Amino acid sequence: MGSVMTSLPLVFDAPRRGRPPTHLADLDADGRRSAVTDLGLPAFRADQLARQYFGRFVGDPAAMTDLPAAAREQLAGALLPPLLTEVRSVATDEGTTRKTLWRLHDGALVESVLMRYPARAGSKERITVCISSQAGCGMACPFCATGQGGLTRNLSTAEIVDQVRAAAQVAASAELGGAPGRLSNVVFMGMGEPLANYGRVVAALRRLVDPAPNGFGLSRRSITVSTVGLVPAIGRLADENLDVTLAVSLHAPDDELRDTLVPVNTRWKVAEVLEAADAYAARTGRRYSIEYAMIRGVNDHPWRADLLGDLLAPRLAHVNLIPLNPTPGSPWDASPKAVEREFVRRLEAHDVPVTVRDTRGREIDGACGQLAATP
Ligand code: SAH
Repeated sequence: MGSVMTSLPLVFDAPRRGRPPTHLADLDADGRRSAVTDLGLPAFRADQLARQYFGRFVGDPAAMTDLPAAAREQLAGALLPPLLTEVRSVATDEGTTRKTLWRLHDGALVESVLMRYPARAGSKERITVCISSQAGCGMACPFCATGQGGLTRNLSTAEIVDQVRAAAQVAASAELGGAPGRLSNVVFMGMGEPLANYGRVVAALRRLVDPAPNGFGLSRRSITVSTVGLVPAIGRLADENLDVTLAVSLHAPDDELRDTLVPVNTRWKVAEVLEAADAYAARTGRRYSIEYAMIRGVNDHPWRADLLGDLLAPRLAHVNLIPLNPTPGSPWDASPKAVEREFVRRLEAHDVPVTVRDTRGREIDGACGQLAATP
């Protein structure tokens, strides 16, 4: 079958390219203070900067008016280099879904997607940003546009964090279809495999959960790290005491099929991935998510639903079915609705909680698996 079936190599180590300049968001509190005192400025200026950045989502030094102009210039040069340049933003769903294409210092491109979900009976308004952890991805999943484009490089901690800051700033303005809101959720489901960029992603997670002025103070459970299943890294993440939510992109309950849909399965099998996720859930005491793209005639068979149900029934897991989003050159489509309903029914018959993801942003190529960052 066409080009999407020819398998790309798995790439774990990102190409080494010119490092992005150091930024405030790369540093912890001590690092920030010593960077500021190295400039010959008093250490409290570091806290002032951090309060602007993490507490008020200000990224542009010119807007930090509580700092004296001379110090501002010096600090900006050393600690607030522009990392993300907006190439364009496109909106859909009456302005409540917004995809932004960013250019990085070396020309690499990444995307992030901001989504606002209105309050419903029993649930508060949610504003979620889906962010990228790498430019491109080395995991080579054949149904994912990012995976088919290969890996360009890892993002720095600050390049990851600044996507969240920019999103929080937009949420707090009136630019996201309605009254000013508050960013509530962050999902590492944009471009890249977060656990293949482990150290920088973990540092970014600390900036997201630490209270201001050290971070944005987001709730741990409202942050989700999604992985193809890098088993050793899932174990390490459990030991970080971060207690963020884990999602595993499974897409098949059997190794034979998963070897082809999620090529990293040739290293770590379904059983190993689920055991690692179980250990993670045992630590946090909360369910993990299983991501499952419904691909017509490929992974949507009733017997696979039963097999998945058998595997997950004894586990602290929740299934998120994602109707397959179209990607360029792919011969695959989403499962018919009736097939999807039967899949859901069988999982529920096994007492496995399941939801079907509302695929926001398809019209702007901003849905799961569609991020490819073409300028
Ligand atoms: N690399 C990580 C983070 C990306 S998350 C991971 O794979 O988990 C993006 C999610 O969208 C993953 O669950 C991925 O498998 C899924 N996805 C990729 N391509 C898709 C497509 N064409 N349609 C629906 N979901 C897709």
